[in-house]
Amino acid sequence: MMAKYQHIFVLFEHDDGNALNVSYEMLGEARRLMDGFNERYALDERVIAVLLGHNVRELAYKAIDAGADAVILADHEELRYPRVNLYTKVISSIVRDRMLVKQAAPNTSDEYVKPRYMLFGADGIGRHLSSTVLAELESGLASDVNRLVIDDVTITHQYKTNGKPELYRHVLFMYRPDFSGFLWTQILCLDNRNPTIAREYSPQACSVIPGVFKPLQRDGQSVDDGSRRGGVEEGYRIVEYKPEFSSDDLRYRIVRRQIIKDEIGLEDSRVVVAFGRGIKDDPEGNIRMIEEFANLLNAKVAISLPLSKQPFSVSSAMKEKYLIPARVVGSSGKRIAPRLYIAIGISGAMHHIVGMKESDTVIAINPDPDAPIKDESDIFIQGRLEDVLPILIESIRGLGPSR
Ligand SMILES: Cc1cc2nc3c(=O)[nH]c(=O)nc-3n(C[C@H](O)[C@H](O)[C@H](O)COP(=O)(O)OP(=O)(O)OC[C@H]3O[C@@H](n4cnc5c(N)ncnc54)[C@H](O)[C@@H]3O)c2cc1C
Repeated sequence: MMAKYQHIFVLFEHDDGNALNVSYEMLGEARRLMDGFNERYALDERVIAVLLGHNVRELAYKAIDAGADAVILADHEELRYPRVNLYTKVISSIVRDRMLVKQAAPNTSDEYVKPRYMLFGADGIGRHLSSTVLAELESGLASDVNRLVIDDVTITHQYKTNGKPELYRHVLFMYRPDFSGFLWTQILCLDNRNPTIAREYSPQACSVIPGVFKPLQRDGQSVDDGSRRGGVEEGYRIVEYKPEFSSDDLRYRIVRRQIIKDEIGLEDSRVVVAFGRGIKDDPEGNIRMIEEFANLLNAKVAISLPLSKQPFSVSSAMKEKYLIPARVVGSSGKRIAPRLYIAIGISGAMHHIVGMKESDTVIAINPDPDAPIKDESDIFIQGRLEDVLPILIESIRGLGPSR
């Protein structure tokens, strides 16, 4: 049977030619998924990276090195920086272009219509584009996913299957943490098999949380020795797509681009003291104590995401200084790797961990011996911050100025 939906497409993200780690992570995961898929279903579907930018051909080799079978490259000066309308148009055109996809993956069926699966990074670029591209492709999207499995499943659903059991094959199980960070939601993108509302949904697509999946271990045949340069003869392909833009497409222009660094500078600090909802019993007093502790250590202060929503009643000076998005660590905030990270009253939800797991040494202060942050900690101090911090502050003060 000819397949209308084939292959996994990965949006290869970069910042003006500097690849983002999430691109390698997605390609590694896509490689693992499709190797398993091809073996299990005796098929031969490919991992295809989609790369947009200007003067970024070198990244195409890196994408192949990181696990792609092929890269479809749209290189154009108007694509140097992501712009939602242009990128949406180009990405959707690429993945629907059967002849182009056939160049990238020659075994593509003559019935090919759209991708089977698609991956985007759950970051500033991918979160936007995943939604607009999937709207354009008329399918669904799961956002902020951190586990992917391909399997078959029998579903009985009042509307989708008209109440009858239906076997769905090649289903991408997309797992994501709920807001608490500890419960898992499983999202499936399934066709309507009920004849009165029949409809196919492809691609099955998601944005994946950066830092969760592992890139492939490089196999030594990297770009440097030229042996995996995407030559047709090696089976790896780099295919060029020539985008065309109308004046309407170009109605938004990037006149000037400036990256504004915030003044907090969490990324540059060797020691970071972070606090979370565990401050709840005396928010104002506890933040003041944490501030003093951080000053003694010459540390920057970070927070968990809920604190940036200003859930506690504290003085406006405290709010404006500490309970702000620029201090958030995690998948929605900063990713940092200080020499020392001290987590006070933070439970250790997965969304938070991805932002601090590269720290050299982690100390956690928490009364709950089962708090997941314990697994990430080199030193776990079981106790309430109100009891532990005064002792630590006193001890550090006792060390005197020469410490
Ligand atoms: C799409 C999405 C993105 C997200 N992005 C982020 C992100 O970037 N960063 C982030 O942090 N979160 C993020 N979250 C939220 C995340 O899932 C968690 O809900 C959040 O990290 C929990 O924050 P917390 O640890 O401060 O609070 P809680 O989970 O409520 O933990 C509070 C901890 O304090 C401890 N405690 C209680 N009393 C005391 C005391 N007296 N002394 C010391 N400890 C005490 C408790 O035992 C508990 O472990 C995101 C969620 C979603 C859905």
